[in-house]
Amino acid sequence: MTTPMIKFDHVNKIYGDTKAVDDLSLTINEHELFVLVGTSGSGKTTTLKMINQLIKPTNGTIYFNNRAVTDYKVRDLRWDIGYVLQQIALFPNMTVGQNIALIPELKHWDRAKIKTTVDELLTQVELPPEKYRDRMPAELSGGEQQRVGILRALATQPSVILMDEPFSALDPLSRTQLQDLLLRMHQRLQMTIVFVTHDMNEALKLGDRIGVMRQGQLLQVASPQEISEHPVNEFVRSFFATSNSQTDLLNQPLSQLAQYWQPVSQDMISSKPVVESDTLLKIVLPQLVEHDRLLIQQAGQPLAYLTQQNVLQYLSEHITQ
Ligand code: ADP
Ligand code: MG
Repeated sequence: MTTPMIKFDHVNKIYGDTKAVDDLSLTINEHELFVLVGTSGSGKTTTLKMINQLIKPTNGTIYFNNRAVTDYKVRDLRWDIGYVLQQIALFPNMTVGQNIALIPELKHWDRAKIKTTVDELLTQVELPPEKYRDRMPAELSGGEQQRVGILRALATQPSVILMDEPFSALDPLSRTQLQDLLLRMHQRLQMTIVFVTHDMNEALKLGDRIGVMRQGQLLQVASPQEISEHPVNEFVRSFFATSNSQTDLLNQPLSQLAQYWQPVSQDMISSKPVVESDTLLKIVLPQLVEHDRLLIQQAGQPLAYLTQQNVLQYLSEHITQ
């Protein structure tokens, strides 16, 4: 059975002549990981901030647990709704442990319970507590800081967590790790999550359901599979197709481009630069720009070479317009 957790009923937010959110009706269910996706300026952040009343709608009603959000005291509402931003601001003069303990302390948890919770949470995100608990935020990498920020939002297990592009500023590896972490935590804790991103691949990976926004309007709400297979219009289709193929195409190892390889001749065997056949295309692009061809080798043996033109041909044959 699905229970509605958050419901938008004909909600508008208008700034001057900009309809930031245009007649939005949407229900997000309890325990759901709902992803709102769209290009910059499509109204995602405005939508998210109306849930916890950081922004008030021009008109229309938003319900939280079947009660209009305006019927709650703002403090009570935010008590139960965690909020994670792209740039998580940890308090720089507090340790990692103190940062995570902040909200449990505001809620008057007892000391022993706070300490156990902090250590458990740190362990879950692979930041061993004995090593990380007493460090200052400045002593952490960006990915580690973001992990701690997410723990701070999770510490008291709010029933809803709003996440606004929380991984967008991270390097690809940290981003993947945190996406996997979020999926694991969601599976275990079953909180309701509203996750905003402009990245289609992230949306497809994380979402139980995805809502696609454009110019304030919600174009489609569907599962990742439905959206890939039955996009509601040309805009949604090309949005998903392009972002998929662009990232995927460049993330291929050179061995995947074998049909574009050129046979090596004797006089080429000592040419430079030499790259391994399992190197990703995106990694070798700068070298290819500089040298116009690469020698590909495997286990020290020259296999083939690849020219700029071969790569352009591969891209043009695989990209989705
Ligand atoms: P997104 O998060 O999808 O990038 P936003 O919700 O931030 O989009 O913004 C949606 C639209 O509303 C944009 O055109 C933006 O310029 C406009 N907008 C957002 N906040 C304000 C504001 N405080 N004043 C005027 N216009 C705003
Ligand atoms: Mg935004």
